[in-house]
Amino acid sequence: MRLTFLGAAHEVTGSCYLVETDRVKFLVDCGMFQGGRIAERRNRMPFHFAPRDIAFVLLTHAHIDHSGLLPKLVAEGFKGQVYTTAATADLIGVLLPDSAHIQEAEAERAQRHQHTRRREDTQPVYTTQQALACLEQIAPQQYDAELSPHPAVRCTFREAGHILGSAIIEVWLEENAKRTKLVFSGDLGQPGRPILRDPAIIEEADLLLVESTYGDRLHKDMESTVEELVHAVNDTLHRKKGNVIIPSFAVGRTQELLYLFNELTRQGRFHNLNIYVDSPMATEATRITMRHMELFDEEAIDLEAWRAKHGDQINLNFTASALESMALNEIRSGSVIISASGMCDAGRIKHHLRHNLGRRENTILITGFQAQGSLGRRLVDGAKTVRIFGEEIPVRAEIYTIGGLSAHADQAALLHWLRQFRRVPRHTFVVHGETSASETLKGHIEKMGWAASLPMLGEVFKN
Ligand SMILES: [Zn+2]
Ligand SMILES: [Zn+2]
Repeated sequence: MRLTFLGAAHEVTGSCYLVETDRVKFLVDCGMFQGGRIAERRNRMPFHFAPRDIAFVLLTHAHIDHSGLLPKLVAEGFKGQVYTTAATADLIGVLLPDSAHIQEAEAERAQRHQHTRRREDTQPVYTTQQALACLEQIAPQQYDAELSPHPAVRCTFREAGHILGSAIIEVWLEENAKRTKLVFSGDLGQPGRPILRDPAIIEEADLLLVESTYGDRLHKDMESTVEELVHAVNDTLHRKKGNVIIPSFAVGRTQELLYLFNELTRQGRFHNLNIYVDSPMATEATRITMRHMELFDEEAIDLEAWRAKHGDQINLNFTASALESMALNEIRSGSVIISASGMCDAGRIKHHLRHNLGRRENTILITGFQAQGSLGRRLVDGAKTVRIFGEEIPVRAEIYTIGGLSAHADQAALLHWLRQFRRVPRHTFVVHGETSASETLKGHIEKMGWAASLPMLGEVFKN
């Protein structure tokens, strides 16, 4: 058996692992590289394998850094099935066409500035049509059921608690009467987060791949995070008499925020909130989430039962048309507006910032990671003015950052998950993290007496 690391090695994005035996070749994840011009170029590079030789793909979850190159894989000759959970299948049904749409828009922009860009940059990595074609090859599966995509391969999807549909994948390979069990952690969630169940306990693996996004950090605890949210929202709405604007990732974070607003209303910490979700993608992701209540944890099911009876204590609106969205610009106070993109670089959030940043009584509530170079990051870093749609906007609103809502397990949670293995894996590969985060986690794993390493991009492990 050979295992090749084709992404998420010494970095967070581009998850893709090639597994080869003498009988079959398959991929686990086929993600995009993200973050600037260099990542864009890497997404255009030829695959390190012939797509037509790949028998099937196992997909851990819907995030684009795990699923984003599937349309390219199909367009270049992959004919097999992509096995994933039913909720992930629903989410990529929205996310992949959206990703294609972004590619097409960027390619169009590059065409207009052709003299400054390389010629290949003026073509989208894939088109909307190719994204839709790829969806035909998605084969939704249940959690915890055994699947045999090939006579020599069995696998099972387990709850990863990261986003709706996310999975840890257990894979059993058979080669020359020898059995090898691989476990791909995928992205692991922080236990105790809103809505989803905690990551499943896995007890055995010969070879383990574990993510390490926050391998060197601890998250702020949920209680203090909730206190900060209550303070920021109530202070803005009741004392300052302004609006709360929340840039939010459409998938995951928006639903978590809605969960918290409902839960805190039930607890009497909020009263008659006026909430607007203004992002078509966030609305669709919320709809998909509500279709998968079978994946909710006990608290979320309980809250849904409360909402069925007392839902009128909170005024929740999903805006549909651009006209409805524009009407929100007239609201001067008393509203919570949740909009995408999460880092303020695209989408309707830019309009809301344009209309609300200039007034002292408003609060911009940052609840997620803001990458270097993004508009959201400039706000967090204290910019006095920002440029939106070519207009210089003064920043007078309060910029309030709330820590503890990460979708990833922190160092303690990662180690806790690892300690529940009953048999020490023969080897543990630390992946999906910046080098320093991965190194730190690897150090802790080695202290447990386990053999661990940080694979390099392109590294091949032979078993
Ligand atoms: Zn993820
Ligand atoms: Zn990821």
